[in-house]
Amino acid sequence: MSDSKKEVQVTINGKQICVPSTLSVIQALWHAGYPRVQGVGCLEGVCGSCRVLVRRSDTQEVSMEMGCQTLVEEGMEVMFLVFPSPSQHTYTLEQIPNSWEVQTEFHKIFPEAQQCRNCHGCSVACPKGISVEKGVELAVKGRFKEAGDLFVECIMCDLCMTGCPEQIAPNRVGLFSRRVTAYFHARPSNLINRLEKIRTGELQIIKE
Ligand code: SF4
Ligand code: SF4
Repeated sequence: MSDSKKEVQVTINGKQICVPSTLSVIQALWHAGYPRVQGVGCLEGVCGSCRVLVRRSDTQEVSMEMGCQTLVEEGMEVMFLVFPSPSQHTYTLEQIPNSWEVQTEFHKIFPEAQQCRNCHGCSVACPKGISVEKGVELAVKGRFKEAGDLFVECIMCDLCMTGCPEQIAPNRVGLFSRRVTAYFHARPSNLINRLEKIRTGELQIIKE
């Protein structure tokens, strides 16, 4: 039997499927009728979005591989990584009345961002070498343009989010930063920062 006709049994995320042995893990899922799109990136082995845990039938070892580059094998078990779901960050730019309010709105949408422990986990995890931790720090301080600039090459692979012990989604912080920078003609971040501190009571105005 030619390889293109040979079928193998594999288990992907607990589902047993029978597919041609010439397919990659992702192609196999599609072939079996599961229209997975989450965790599927460039399909060329570059972006790293489709990393999966793989265990082959002849070993107990588990390896991390890319779903788009790994061909299915008889008895193979595959698990797509399931990320802890961070709190929902649903917002529209229209809900921010003006650029003075950006920092206030940011802290409402991403309240967990200021819990950053500076553990470097996100920066170490990033396959694009982005200073992720610094980006979060800048955004928390209201320096959205600088924060957004750091995330220009982000491919939204979510690895930074996976590594974060505080369930911060740094990539979404970066996206927010880029969006607000483009949407508003940003006012001086120091000034906005001060106004936010006055609003929260951290900075008192003494009237004579
Ligand atoms: S999602 Fe996070 S880890 Fe992935 S490229 Fe973007 S900043 Fe880096
Ligand atoms: S992984 Fe989370 S807590 Fe650690 S530095 Fe990055 S954003 Fe901060």
